[in-house]
Order: sequence, then C-alpha cells, then structure tokens
Amino acid sequence: MLQLKFDDNFQNIVPIFQDYWKSIDDIPPKIKDYITNHSASRPLYDRTDKKYYCSQCLRELSGCQCINCQREYQLKKSFKVFQIQDLDSLEVTYRVFDVIDQEAVLYYIVDELTFDHPLASYKYRTNKMKLSRAYHVQKDGLLELYSHKFYSFKSYDEALWKDFDENGDFSLIDISEIFGLSFSSYDFLYVDNLDDLQDVSVYRYSRIWEMKDKWRDDAFVPLSAVTYNPICRPEFEYLVKMKLYQLAEQCETIKWGDRGSFEKIFGVSKKYYNFMVEHDINASELSALQQCPTDDYELLSFVTDCLNTVIQVDHSVDFKKLKKYFDEQHLRPDHFVDYQDYLNCCQQLGIDLKDKNVLYPEDFITSHDQLTLEVMINDNAEINQKISELSKLLSLNVYENDKFIIFPADGIASLIDESSQQSNCVRTYCDRISQNDCQIYFMRHKTAVDKSLVTVEVRAGRVVQARTRFNKDIDAEMKTFLEQWEKVMFPIIKISE
Ligand SMILES: [Zn+2]
Repeated sequence: MLQLKFDDNFQNIVPIFQDYWKSIDDIPPKIKDYITNHSASRPLYDRTDKKYYCSQCLRELSGCQCINCQREYQLKKSFKVFQIQDLDSLEVTYRVFDVIDQEAVLYYIVDELTFDHPLASYKYRTNKMKLSRAYHVQKDGLLELYSHKFYSFKSYDEALWKDFDENGDFSLIDISEIFGLSFSSYDFLYVDNLDDLQDVSVYRYSRIWEMKDKWRDDAFVPLSAVTYNPICRPEFEYLVKMKLYQLAEQCETIKWGDRGSFEKIFGVSKKYYNFMVEHDINASELSALQQCPTDDYELLSFVTDCLNTVIQVDHSVDFKKLKKYFDEQHLRPDHFVDYQDYLNCCQQLGIDLKDKNVLYPEDFITSHDQLTLEVMINDNAEINQKISELSKLLSLNVYENDKFIIFPADGIASLIDESSQQSNCVRTYCDRISQNDCQIYFMRHKTAVDKSLVTVEVRAGRVVQARTRFNKDIDAEMKTFLEQWEKVMFPIIKISE
C-alpha cells in the first residue's frame, strides 16, 4: 500500500510504501532458508595459505567433504579470506526483491557469519541476519524506506561521466558509490523471484528476469544493474534480448554509438555477434574487440588485459604479433604499459617504428631501460650537464684504501644505474643533486668498480645516509672506511644565490 506523506522538509507530499519488511521476522521463511543454506554451502578459501576450509567448523578440507562435520562443498564457489586463524566474522549481503501491489522493493539482507562459538572450545560458525536497506523502486529513483533518503536516477546519470577532479561535488561521488560499487565482499542477488518483476510497471519492458542464470551465483551484482539500467537505459532490454548479458549489466559504462546498424551500435562488424554471445563479453572486452577485431578469445583476453593497463593506446599496435612477441619474451600483459612507454621513447628519439627490430627488440627489458634512460637524459640535458660539472669539483673527494674506493656520481645515467631499485624517484633526486642540495657518492670494491655496493648521501660535508643494495645497512668495515673518509673530506657546500 502506498500512503501519502510529507517528505523530511515538509515541502512535498510523497507516496510512502507501507508494507515493507521492518524486521527480520518479516522476511519470508523461504528467503531466510535460502540465505542460510547459500552461505553455508560455500567453503572458505584462505588466500594466505591457499587452502580450503570447512565454513562450518573451520577444519581444513582435504577433499570436497569435511571429515569432521560431513558437509559437502563445491570448491570453486568459495568465500575468499585472509589468515583463517584470525577470522572472526564475514559479512555476506543478499539483495532480495519483493513485489507487493505491483510495486517493487529491493532489500539488503546482511548475513553476518561469526566464527567463534562461546560454548565450543573450537571455532564454529554461527550466523545472524539483519536488514540493512530497503529501496522502493520508483520510476525516477530509489527511496530508501528506513532513512527516507531518495537517490534519483538523474543524479546517477549526471555522476556517470563527470570528471570528479574538476568540481568537488561529493554528493555525486556518493551516488555513484551507491549505484556502482559494492562494499560488502560478497553481494548476491536472490534470483528465484525475478519473474515477479514482470508485474511491476517500471520493469515491464526490461526483460530483467532473463538475467536470472547470469546472476544466480554472481557475487558482485551492482545496484545500477538491477535498477537504473533496466529502468532508464533502453539498451538494457535490447542487450538482454540479444543474450549479451554482461554488456546489459554494465550498459551504463559504455558509450554507445548511434542507433541503426549493429556496427554503428557496437563499433564492430556483425560477424562477431555469435562470438560475443558465446563468450558473453563484457564492457572491457568490447572495447578490446573494437581495437582488435578477432574471433580468437585468447587473443581478445590478452588485448583486454593490455588495454586495462594503459590510458591511451597507440593505434598502430598489431596485437596479434604483439601477443606472440610477449609470449616469446615471457612478458605479462601488464608490461604493455612499458611497451607503450618504449614506443613513445622511440618516437621521441626519431627511431623508425616500421623496423621490425625496433618494434620487437630481441631483449625487451634491456632495450626499454636503455631507451627510457636516453630520453630522460635528453629531457634533462641541463640537469645532466650540471651534475657532470659538479662532479668534477666533487672529485676532490675521491678516496680509497686497500679495499674500497669512493667517487661522486657524474650524471643521470650513473644515478639511474646505481638506484635501479628505486628508479621512480630518480628525477627529483637528480634535480636536488644538480642544485648541490645533496651529493651522491658511490662506494665500491676496487676489484669491481662498476658494480654498485654502497650509495652514500652527503650534506654539508657529512655522511647522512649510506645504504647497500636493497636498502640494507652497511657492515663495520664499510663504516670504518666512511668514517676515515669523512675526516679528510672537503665540505663542498652550496653557495646561496
Ligand atoms: Zn566441517
């Protein structure tokens, strides 16, 4: 029943849905049983020791059945946790629709699993359900029935393509979190009554009930997929009809082409349609397919992984050849960001990218490192020059004994070489050195002067830091050497401008 009421500000009269579940006792037993059984059907998987455990008595599972309590499990449907010994509780959210008088309410029922039994000497699972939210689904938004807060579809729509850096409208961030993200580590949708939504006017043409099988065991169905998309996005129905379920679920995140032909809408030729259905491709796979049309799913997955690591793609990339090359070089798709970086460096240095040996160098990592170094020196020619000039002065402090020698860094290349472990901060580091705000010396074995041993930072004629590789402290012999050196060092201090 709908009842008319004033809203919180006493400004508008709004219909308030009355017959909603207000406490756990209102939840139909069928749903409660479903939740209890569903939570109990999943074993725990400990990401730390990579083992499965009975979620009832927390004993390690050797097979699909617990030898202690006889429960049987399907191992691939598990709750993933860390450090099972320290596990106290786990929250699993179930979203459940209820249809009354042709109105839909979507409930969030949290099943709180607690792994500690006060009466048992060992850990044992108990569970407690609580109702956390109830959204009355309306044509222009969701009214949360416990707090009376209204979340309009229009503001979610605005939030979708907003650049949050530019304006600090935090209410839009809130709304995209409500619709788009899931805060619980597990968030299931109860699908057995989705057919009832056929009677609800806002869902009438949505075909949302056809998503049943897709969502049955899906642990992360966003709120937008079950409300905003089927209600506000005409693409949703179209995609469900086409059996492209993942695209339907994520349809608000895709910039659709003009209506009309298949190719205009999806940005790929219609001949890929069966392939798209067969693999039920998602939004990132669709953009990968647009970038690299193929019916080889392994290749598509590779392209998808590559594209997920970069913001912009060099359009000349031949992904088929690149995959072969990455396989040969034992590179992972996340190296694609380095590959793009490498291509940019080539371009910057005017190297011919049509040359196969340039595109696919024999040893990628080495070529990449060499080239990025070259570009960095090019870009920072002035800084490099200053460091090099300064090093001539600092050479007054070259010092040695029988075993060790110490000398100043003479340019960007030597610094990158030395600190290859921390190369990401080299740029700012170089800047400070070129200003003589600090000085870097390399202490090395006289028998291996090219091999990095201790990096020494000097300020105002004093050693302020001396670290070996992997940032370990130096040993006593090295320390004695540095103390002797410090005594005879010329303090080459920055002269203020
Ligand atoms: Zn057990």
